[in-house]
Amino acid sequence: MKMAEKIHWARELTTFVKHFCCKYMKQVKPWTLTLVIALLGVQGACVSQGTSSTTEAQDTGRKDTMTYKIQKTEEEWRQLLGDEAYRVLRLKGTERPFTSEFETQWEAGTYVCKGCGQELFSSETKFDAGCGWPSFYQSMDKSKVKEIPDLSHGMNRVEVVCSGCGGHLGHVFNDGYGQPTGLRYCINGVSLGFVKKP
Ligand SMILES: [Zn+2]
Repeated sequence: MKMAEKIHWARELTTFVKHFCCKYMKQVKPWTLTLVIALLGVQGACVSQGTSSTTEAQDTGRKDTMTYKIQKTEEEWRQLLGDEAYRVLRLKGTERPFTSEFETQWEAGTYVCKGCGQELFSSETKFDAGCGWPSFYQSMDKSKVKEIPDLSHGMNRVEVVCSGCGGHLGHVFNDGYGQPTGLRYCINGVSLGFVKKP
């Protein structure tokens, strides 16, 4: 099933549950409905990046033994990045879908690593995948990102990290339908900075 179809059915399911609750569960407390929708939201996140939006990577599926040019202590990273970017970049977390300002940004410029400023993706290769995260069909240069087999969460995926600092950016998938490379670099917007084209 294509990504757009999966998202479509997730939304259909959400609508159905809402109507069901309104019709048959009038006595139910409002927080129950909120909980149901929140759970469906998490399920939606799983469809696109294949992992919970709130679960940090506590796995052993990724083996990255490379030493990166930029080295900092965990405390230095936390200070530099702030809580959410630290969770994603350094703890290999996933941001909630449809929350990044970059997901719907189409200005010309360059997307850089929030951890070290390395140039990663050009706006020219950005496309609307409808998955809730900024998506690109290729990196600026193969030396800028490192691709690592990722067997975490019982899936076979390819993780994308910044080659400058080792920061987790997202994953690359073979479902960049209609794109020149056929690839979709599904990137957490919070991992990125943006330098507008002068
Ligand atoms: Zn970096």
